[in-house]
Amino acid sequence: MGCIVGLMACGTAGGAPPAEDRPLPPVAQPVATQPATQPATQPATQPATGEANCEVPEGEGQAVFASGDVLWRYHPDSQLATPQHPTLTPKYPVVDIHCHWSINQDPQALLAAMDRLGVQRAVNLSGGFGDTLESIMTKFHDAAPDRLLIFMNLDFARIGEEGWTDEMVTALDHAHARGVSGLKIFKSLGLTIRDIDGTRVPVDDPRLDPIWHRCGELGMPVLIHTADPIAFFEPLDEHNERWVQLHRHPDWSFHGGGFPSRDELLAERNRVIARHLDTTFIGAHVANNAEDLARVGRDMDAMPNLVADISGRVAELGRQPYTARRFFLKYQDRLLFGTDRYPGRPDQPRYTIYYRFLETDDEYFDYYDHPFPPTGEWRIYGIFLPDEVLAKIYHENADRVLGMGQADHGIADSSTDPPPGLDTAPPAPREPAPDAAAPPASPYR
Ligand SMILES: [Zn+2]
Repeated sequence: MGCIVGLMACGTAGGAPPAEDRPLPPVAQPVATQPATQPATQPATQPATGEANCEVPEGEGQAVFASGDVLWRYHPDSQLATPQHPTLTPKYPVVDIHCHWSINQDPQALLAAMDRLGVQRAVNLSGGFGDTLESIMTKFHDAAPDRLLIFMNLDFARIGEEGWTDEMVTALDHAHARGVSGLKIFKSLGLTIRDIDGTRVPVDDPRLDPIWHRCGELGMPVLIHTADPIAFFEPLDEHNERWVQLHRHPDWSFHGGGFPSRDELLAERNRVIARHLDTTFIGAHVANNAEDLARVGRDMDAMPNLVADISGRVAELGRQPYTARRFFLKYQDRLLFGTDRYPGRPDQPRYTIYYRFLETDDEYFDYYDHPFPPTGEWRIYGIFLPDEVLAKIYHENADRVLGMGQADHGIADSSTDPPPGLDTAPPAPREPAPDAAAPPASPYR
């Protein structure tokens, strides 16, 4: 009898992770969470398990262990005969509020990819500070001030030094005058950032209050990444829904090891948002509760200055299409498009997958373009949002948060139709998307 008794994973998640997903500084981890790394591209003979065939083939993939054999590169094709609508371009211009790119990128290549993908503006959250920030502004923002936007970061390495808060507030003032669009806080705040005396800096450390306050005064939104998926805080065992992913990236687990709990981190974040109602906070990755959209809704109901980007969570959103669709319709003024990548990044081309998820009613499709599922062992479903909601999520909400006009999108104001109800019918099937080799004259269908 064939039965899958285990999952094995090889390889990496596909290229270098974005800046904020890179391994954080070394921290104490349970021994069991640090399996030996096994390069997938190097043929090797594994220790035999009974009669198992353990020759590792070339290339990346994921394997299952069944009836004594390892089945390499297991990636079953769905045989469903449901309609398919690959969506190469968005219906409306897109603002990608959550990108990361380095100084090594070519601004003209970014702009060309944006034109191809229908992205009007892209926001690089990895602006850094000081000379790094100035270099990023000069190379990218100055090349296309309406299209390549930059968020700065804070110099947390020196928190605890005399005058640090005042220095950061002054840096915000200068950055704002220079044209920096906002402030990005990485997940290291609350998890690994330490005062110069060695104590953990909580997200709601009062020394940061003048910084949040000044962002509000300057009209600079704060995009804040706090905590991570639930599975990253759960024990690493066969019940963990991201066990395979965390086996590839053991340093992404924050279970034990002296870390604060996920609930404590999110409570710290919420206390900050609640006491700075004049500052707009963008909760990264569906406010990092994509598994529990009701909880995101409760937070948004309680804090009118909280909006959320949808970056890096299409796998979570697309596996709960009914709940996600109701959530997107109810909070259609509070959700911002984002990918956690950058236009033209060759691996895991997220834009077209996000467009398909938001626009179509396609069923059971891959949330990735990769030899194996990088996040979890499932597929996703589209939520066929109505046009007026798409326009808000693609760019209107981001333009409002960024304080930018819509004239340069070249589109008319949104429809004045009443908001759609939850009973909106699925869309009529569209014409198949045009061939990738022959892009349409306009990127907006
Ligand atoms: Zn990010």
